[in-house]
Amino acid sequence: MTDPSIEETLGPLRLAVMEQGDIVRQLKESGAPDSDVKKGVSELRARKKILEDKELELAPIGFELLDRNRLEDLLKRRFFYDQSFEIYGGIAGQFDFGPMGCDMEDNLLDAWRKFFILKEKMHKIKCAVVTPEPVLRASGHVDRFTDLMVKDVKTGECFRLDHLIKDELEKVKADKSATAQVKAECENILTRLDGMTKEEMTAVLRQFNMMSRNGNDVTDPVEFNLMFHTSIGPTGQIRGYLRPETAQGIFVNFSRLLEFNNGRLPFAAAQIGPAFRNEISPRSGLLRVREFTMAEIEHFCDPNDKSHPKFNSVKDLEILLYSACAQMEGKPSKLMKLGDAVTQKLIDNETLGYFIGRIYQFLIMVGVNGKKLRFRQHMSNEMAHYARDCWDAECLTSFGWVECVGCADRSAFDLTQHSKATGAKLKAERKLSEARIEEVVDVLPRKALIAKQFKAEVKIVLEEIEKVDSNIIESSIKQEGKFDLQVNDKSYSITSEMVEVRRQMKKVHVENFVPSVIEPSFGIGRILYVILEHNFGVREGDEKRTFLKLPPIVAPYKCCVLPLSNKPDFMPFVKQISQDLEDQEIPSEVNTSSGSVGRRYARTDELGVPFAVTVDFDTLKEPHSVTLRDRDSMLQVRLPVNEVAAVIKSLSCGKLSWSEVRAKYPAFIQQE
Ligand code: AMP
Repeated sequence: MTDPSIEETLGPLRLAVMEQGDIVRQLKESGAPDSDVKKGVSELRARKKILEDKELELAPIGFELLDRNRLEDLLKRRFFYDQSFEIYGGIAGQFDFGPMGCDMEDNLLDAWRKFFILKEKMHKIKCAVVTPEPVLRASGHVDRFTDLMVKDVKTGECFRLDHLIKDELEKVKADKSATAQVKAECENILTRLDGMTKEEMTAVLRQFNMMSRNGNDVTDPVEFNLMFHTSIGPTGQIRGYLRPETAQGIFVNFSRLLEFNNGRLPFAAAQIGPAFRNEISPRSGLLRVREFTMAEIEHFCDPNDKSHPKFNSVKDLEILLYSACAQMEGKPSKLMKLGDAVTQKLIDNETLGYFIGRIYQFLIMVGVNGKKLRFRQHMSNEMAHYARDCWDAECLTSFGWVECVGCADRSAFDLTQHSKATGAKLKAERKLSEARIEEVVDVLPRKALIAKQFKAEVKIVLEEIEKVDSNIIESSIKQEGKFDLQVNDKSYSITSEMVEVRRQMKKVHVENFVPSVIEPSFGIGRILYVILEHNFGVREGDEKRTFLKLPPIVAPYKCCVLPLSNKPDFMPFVKQISQDLEDQEIPSEVNTSSGSVGRRYARTDELGVPFAVTVDFDTLKEPHSVTLRDRDSMLQVRLPVNEVAAVIKSLSCGKLSWSEVRAKYPAFIQQE
């Protein structure tokens, strides 16, 4: 239940959003000019932002402010990750993961593989990172994957336009000599900045006579493509890019994957790997970087049947949904059963709903706080034109709500684009309930002419013609008198004489169609950071003791072994327990540092180690026993040395709970 006094404050703000939402709707319905719609949307976004900021301020979901400096200090000190190439001064947006970060990322990816690839029987794929330009031209990245940028006219330094405007306006707002009117204007611009067009931002830039951070004039804004470009091979003539996402590699392999799946739909392919985006001004630590690990799934299905056989297993999940409608009407996000959301068509189809449910379950399992997780639907103006429906899993952090996973129904866009660009048949077959007579195009190569033209390469050319959609060859020959066949950097011109194009009526039993694609796309670095933030804390009453409450599934070490003394009698026990843990494949650490046991527990808590075994003086006596401590409750039990590794294994994989351990073994009381 929302607190009524909070609702009283939020009410007028909600109303303001709703009114503007109605205006935008009317503008769209009446076919108003694009510029008017854009203005309306920009105002809508501004009102939404004011509402969201207020909601956060009043903290209806219990968001306590995090001491980010303490967390960042811990992450540096215990080398989870840190800036790359730091001894050379470093470059923003690149991070090196240390031992703890590597372990955590590996654990996160292992969990992802098991949760998605294994349980959903997906096909793994690993595609090339350096991608030739035509692929990314067809996908739209060469033309549209851009941010606005300005340049310092003297130094050439570049700035992301929205960041520059934001920083400059913040400065004006903080300036004591600025009038209340100017401050209000700055505030107004800041709230609508996200939705502003290039022209609107340019006007703000010039109105406030903004300079670069070096105090020099800046150029007019230009669209900057975020892909890193390179040339492939020594000639410098084959242009390529580091991939900005892993998805395109999956799309271009569609035919092979379909064949691997015996020609049947639906199926999903998954890929984990690096992606690169040349962000103009990376900031916010791991949240906006220039290279990062993505884990992406492309689920291919029949556009006429987006049901999912396992939807029932998630339909009762209650998830915080922030629909496009709620955003337009200034309403808050709402806890809803997935089943209801799909029945009411709020979520477009079962498969999309199923993946939203699985993403939710995964994020909770790896340690994201469910109260700080919502699924926000893209509004029609922010959704890519080809997408049918799109929901982002957003997590609340000290930087605000951050998109961590995108989940979109991309319809047939990508396969159609690649098919258009290459002629490849990126289609599946559907059995017709009844055979029908249809006009069919056949392309029959005239082998002698092709052999004469291409000599030794005739075999390759004939094989490749076979793979091309006959309709595409037909229309290209009609329009241009030829079809250009691309194979391994080479182009073979197939002229009208080389093929016979035949149109004839045929009885067909199947029809071809381009499958739809549902794409869950995970940014691993962002999820990792959110887990760290959501699980960071300071022990009450002891300001110095910071800890990470990482769930065992992602914790770098599951256990720490602490001998109370470094006397030789203790060592055989430490060795035995370490060996037992190793045999159980449990990553652990032995901590023989000096200092009180309390201080040593504090060190393990900082690394997020969920369990600690202490070898004490009683261990030396028969029957040999040790204490086992649970990080979260700080409670301990005493148990036999030869049982401890198996107990930790069961605790780590969730087969046993700490309360069951407490019920089975005697408590051990010790002051920390
Ligand atoms: P997108 O293709 O832009 O929807 O991104 C997919 C996912 O990649 C997002 O949900 C983020 O988790 C992640 N991501 C995108 N851009 C960045 C970035 N610059 N730094 C870190 N993660 C990113």
